Amino acid sequence: MPSPRRPGLALKLGSLLTLAVVAAMLLSSAFTRAYDGSGSTAWVAVALIVAIASAFIFAAVLDWLVVRPLVRLALQVRRMEATDLAEPFVATGIDEPRELGEALERLRQRVLLEQERQRQLNVDLEARVRERSTALAAAQRELSDAERLASVGRLAGGVAHEINNPAGVILGRASFLRTVLEESGGDAEQIADLKVMERQAERIRQITGSLLRFARSSTGERHAIDLADVARDAIALARLEARARNIDLLDTLAAAPVHADPQALEQVVYNLLRNAVHAARTTVWVRTGADGLVIEDDGAGIAPEHLPRVFEPFFTTKARGEGTGLGLAVVHGIVGEHGGTIVADNGVGGGARFSVTLPG
Ligand code: ADP
Repeated sequence: MPSPRRPGLALKLGSLLTLAVVAAMLLSSAFTRAYDGSGSTAWVAVALIVAIASAFIFAAVLDWLVVRPLVRLALQVRRMEATDLAEPFVATGIDEPRELGEALERLRQRVLLEQERQRQLNVDLEARVRERSTALAAAQRELSDAERLASVGRLAGGVAHEINNPAGVILGRASFLRTVLEESGGDAEQIADLKVMERQAERIRQITGSLLRFARSSTGERHAIDLADVARDAIALARLEARARNIDLLDTLAAAPVHADPQALEQVVYNLLRNAVHAARTTVWVRTGADGLVIEDDGAGIAPEHLPRVFEPFFTTKARGEGTGLGLAVVHGIVGEHGGTIVADNGVGGGARFSVTLPG
C-alpha cells in the first residue's frame, strides 16, 4: 500500500506558494522603489506581470492537481452508486488525489468481495435449511411409519397370542395320539403323519412366541440373558423374509451371557439381520459366542467411503421410499446405551460384516 505521508502535493503547492510570495515581495519592492524614485515604473510593470502570472500558474496547478481529480472522483462515486459498485474507480491525477482514487478502488473491491461472501453464505444457509427440512420431513414420515408399525406390532402380538393357544392344543393332542398309537402298535404311516403335525405345530408356536416377544414393548429393564437366545428369536422372525428371498440363514449360536434389555437387543439383531437378508446374494451367517455377535452376508458389501457414515441417522443408499437410514442409527444407539460397541466392515468374501460386543 502506498504511503499517504509522501509530501508530493504539499511540496508542489508549497513551491508554487513560495513563488507567489516571492512575486508579491518583488511587486511590493518594485512599488516602493518606484515611489521613492530609486526604481523605474518598468520594474513595477514587470513585477506586476510576474505576480499575475504566478497567481494564474498557482490557480491552474491547484486546479489540475487537486480540484479536477477530486471532481472526477466525486463523479465516479456518484456513478458507482448508480451502478451498484459495478463501475471501477479509475485513479487519475497525481500524488494524494491519485492515492485517494486507488484507495477507493481497493475499498470497492473489498466491498464487492464481502458482498460475494455474504451471497455465498446465504446460498449455503438456504441449502442447509432445505437439507434440514428434507431430514425433518423424513423424520416425520419415519415417525408415522413407526406409529403404524407399533400398531401393527400390537395387532400381530394379539393374533400371535390367539394362534399360540390353539397351536398348543393341536401339539398336545397330536403328541397324545402319537403316544397312544405307538404304545398300541398302531399304523406306522399314521404315526409319521402325527410326527409331522407335531413338528409343524411346534414351529407355529416358535414363530408366534418370537412374535409375542418382539411385539412386547421394551421395559428398559436389564437382565442376565444369553445373546444366543435373543439371536434365535430374531432369526425365527427374519427366516420368513429370508425364505421369501431365497436366502439361507446359517447360525452358529454359542452361549454369550450379557446383561441387557432383551427386547432392545432383539431389535438390534433383527435390524442387522434384515439389512443382511436384503443385501445378501445367497447366504447370511449369524454367530454368537464369548466375543459377542457377528452377522455377515455375501452381498456387495459396504463401499469404503460409506463405512464411516452407515450409523449416521438418515444415511441410506437405498432408493427413495425404500430406506429411511434409521435402522443402524437405532442399533448404534441401543448398543451404546448398553456400554457395548458395534463395528461395520466387509468380510473376506466381500459382504458386509457387523460385529457387536456387549459387557457381560
Ligand atoms: P436403511 O436400511 O433404511 O438404508 P440403515 O440405517 O439400516 O438404513 O442402513 C444404512 C445404510 O447402511 C444402508 O442404506 C446401506 O448402504 C448400508 N448397509 C447396512 N447394512 C448393509 C449390508 N448388510 N450390506 C451392505 N450395505 C449395508
